[in-house]
Amino acid sequence: MDSQLQDYDPINGLKPSENCAVIGIYGNDTVFFKIYTSLRTLQHRGQEASGVAIFDGEKINALKVDGLVYEGFRPYIEKEIVPKGNIGIGHNRYSTAGIKNITGAGPFLISTAMGDMAISHNGEITNYQSLRDELKEQGVPFVTTNDTEVMLNLLARTIRQKGIKNGIRSSMEMLQGSYSAVLMIGEKMYAMRDPKGFRPLILGKAGNDIIISSESAAIDVLGGTIVRDVQPGEVVEIYNGDINTLFIMRSQRISHCMFEYVYFARPDSIIDGVEVYNSRYRLGVNLAKEAPVEADVVIPVPDSGRTQALSYAAELKMEYSEGLFKNRYSERTFIMPGNKERDSAVKLKLNPIKSVVQGKRIVLVDDSIVRGTTMKRIVALLRSFGAKEIHVRIASPKIVAPCYFGVDMKTRDQFIALNKSDDQISKEVGADSLAYLSIEGLVNSIGMPKKSLCLGCLTGEYPVKIAGEKEDIQTTLEL
Ligand code: SF4
Repeated sequence: MDSQLQDYDPINGLKPSENCAVIGIYGNDTVFFKIYTSLRTLQHRGQEASGVAIFDGEKINALKVDGLVYEGFRPYIEKEIVPKGNIGIGHNRYSTAGIKNITGAGPFLISTAMGDMAISHNGEITNYQSLRDELKEQGVPFVTTNDTEVMLNLLARTIRQKGIKNGIRSSMEMLQGSYSAVLMIGEKMYAMRDPKGFRPLILGKAGNDIIISSESAAIDVLGGTIVRDVQPGEVVEIYNGDINTLFIMRSQRISHCMFEYVYFARPDSIIDGVEVYNSRYRLGVNLAKEAPVEADVVIPVPDSGRTQALSYAAELKMEYSEGLFKNRYSERTFIMPGNKERDSAVKLKLNPIKSVVQGKRIVLVDDSIVRGTTMKRIVALLRSFGAKEIHVRIASPKIVAPCYFGVDMKTRDQFIALNKSDDQISKEVGADSLAYLSIEGLVNSIGMPKKSLCLGCLTGEYPVKIAGEKEDIQTTLEL
């Protein structure tokens, strides 16, 4: 398991990162370009590697590439050597568990007595190590330390023993943690979502194609319409153009990740019935109600704080302005060795607009803070351009605990907010004041009952048993 945050991003800094996008298309004609388009649409969920696995009528062929979807697949598209077939799945990877190269990228593919099986997975299996040890003892060889490989081999074993429906159910009874996955067994396709529903998974249709996607934005881009979300604990079979629920494994409560609404998902996606843009807008409104401040102008940290800054300003009838120019052509992520390099990386990517900043009392809005190192640099940058006052407003609550369900926040010592007051954090980032949105404000903004959300990284109380951590309620599965 990774214990460190991933590569440094000079704008988004050490923000939490999502691990993966999944897509499945059950089509009537060639699906490669549709999967490729979907993976480009869902690029924000993972930039480390991508892959497709397509059934050609007899077997499943996979192609995996490093880096961004467009760059990675381009040589294969140019040479016309991409997998062919009408039924396929795709994956964008951001690793939180396992090795970090193309070998660890999805989809994972194995050949079994039941035919080829392939899986794309978004989430994190918390008991993958013990499952892996158990499977290894039974002679299953592993190529990677990836939890998805464990999941696929477990499914292959239980499906061989009990058939597809009971086999998948049996695997789900053993798997702990978060998974929204698309599984292919030959030409049959399955959507699986863990009983808590941590990560999103949605069904759509475009013409005669049936689509399973991490986010609805991919369905929009393919010109399709949403059918519905895959329910927490549901397994859906897609075969011969039909969508059938195999079963639903219910949990006492569901736990949608609140960070999907705060930061991860695209604003144009609708997740579990809630439009992400609307949630973000309300986050800014509630932040304005909870933490108003007298100032001349509200500016966002681009792009993550933009919607929230807009609604913060609108709610308080304040001026909103783009006070920081973002250079779109500098690299998105790269490892910066030292503080000096990181400072210049921030300047390369962000530059203040003097007329907006100089002599002004500024409200600087962002969606979240993890370490606070980038916020510190942005505040210093604004001061160097003559800002008179800087009031930082964060449109989500303090992050104080690790995530075990697919987000790369693994150790407590990385969090600036741990055991600190707002004033102490304000001082640390060099601001004149700093305030966070409350947990109640967050829940109200998302518009779901509190008990339907995972708030583990905000409260340190988790919706499933994690060794050494507090569980928020007892979770007995009703099968
Ligand atoms: S711990 Fe935080 S980031 Fe992880 S799933 Fe729960 S809400 Fe999301």
